[in-house]
Amino acid sequence: MYRTESSTFQSLTQKLGQFDLSGKKFLIPEMNRIGCHLMAGVFQGFGIDAAVMPTFQSLKQGKEATSGKECFPCQVTLSDLFNYLDAEKQRLGGAFDPERYVYFMPEATGPCRFGMYNKFQRIVLDSIPEYKDVKIGSLTTENSYSLEGMVDPSQTRQFRKKAYLSVIVGDILDRLLWRIRPYECDRGAADGWMEQAMEDMCRFFVETGAEFPLESLKSRIEKIVEDGTSLMDRQMERKPRVGIVGEIYLRSHTHSNQDLVRLLERCGAEVVVASISEWMDFTAYDHVRRSHNACVLEMKTGHFREALAQLKKNIIYRMTLNYQQKMQDELYAGVNRSMDLEKPHRVGDLEAYFSKNDTYTFEVGTEASLSIAGLLAYVKDGYDGVVNVYPFTCMPGTITASVAKPLMSQSDMPCLDVAYDETIQPGREATIETFMYQVKKRQARQSSNQDSA
Ligand code: SF4
Repeated sequence: MYRTESSTFQSLTQKLGQFDLSGKKFLIPEMNRIGCHLMAGVFQGFGIDAAVMPTFQSLKQGKEATSGKECFPCQVTLSDLFNYLDAEKQRLGGAFDPERYVYFMPEATGPCRFGMYNKFQRIVLDSIPEYKDVKIGSLTTENSYSLEGMVDPSQTRQFRKKAYLSVIVGDILDRLLWRIRPYECDRGAADGWMEQAMEDMCRFFVETGAEFPLESLKSRIEKIVEDGTSLMDRQMERKPRVGIVGEIYLRSHTHSNQDLVRLLERCGAEVVVASISEWMDFTAYDHVRRSHNACVLEMKTGHFREALAQLKKNIIYRMTLNYQQKMQDELYAGVNRSMDLEKPHRVGDLEAYFSKNDTYTFEVGTEASLSIAGLLAYVKDGYDGVVNVYPFTCMPGTITASVAKPLMSQSDMPCLDVAYDETIQPGREATIETFMYQVKKRQARQSSNQDSA
């Protein structure tokens, strides 16, 4: 059914890349629900008609277009796109114009398959006559997600700042929900409150556009925190804490991970998932490291002009990273005036864990670096259990599972690896319950150690 056309290679350069979004409908696949909606709000605030596509309605078309060897997120996002376009075609009839749509699929460099999703999806779209003119808009980690060509050049800087702000706010709202929901007095109240909070924050990003009213944002978040804390039963004892790391899409997309956070909460945990900001920091940090190494190499070989170019890059990425972390500090400080929300780990601190125990290195790259170090950070932060989530056959997920297992066992830390595809594993709930039994035992051991100290 899906055939590769002879024009495929041309299409990879002409219909995949960074396109001017004015007059287009920009389609964002849902990953972390709140963050993606806030990002759409940022685009809308800059006059771009962006929408988050409904997700996980049916995987049929994504599965038909793939062989089964692709990563699960590739199938899910492709299905979401087909379902959306089909609905648009039905809604608009003869007025449906594929050229009006730009589908967003970023990429990363490095050894894993994420760099190939958008190329593969391009080939699939090209094989369907009515959708072959839908463009794929891509950003890459190679230039730290530069928006060149997509947004009006005079607004790129403001857009990047605002987009990053939305990432932090998305993380904060997620973390607030995970901090408050396990202690809610009335079942369902936290979900309802968060729904409203998300809508409020979306409005903020749409209405403020290119402006940067940080103080007003902070006070709106503080109001959200105030409303959220009023839902908590403050008498309840702190539950055992479980930290989740893993592949970014699976750990953030609740449909794909079969709502793992909620299941862990039902079994008695308070959960924190590694943040999206951490990944953004990691890409900037990686550029700082790489440009530093390249600069040293160019100096050693006498290529001073090239060394200078690398030095300039290094300074820019350093400033980017510092800016991102400063923004995190500011927003979390406001929240933590009345709450105890954990900030994302500092990437530099995460790398330092490896130099201490010599188990892995950022040099290898991929998300495995972040995940393994993230697990070590959860141990240090006194968590009671850790989970590594990834799509079935995911390369960094599998590396994390193999490297982290002995490390967690040395620390007496209950650790669960969970690989997902679309299937529902019959023993899944029993596995989580068994894991949670170990988690509770560890919490009890930790508190009796503290009492006797
Ligand atoms: S991180 Fe895993 S799921 Fe994502 S592209 Fe790489 S191999 Fe696939």
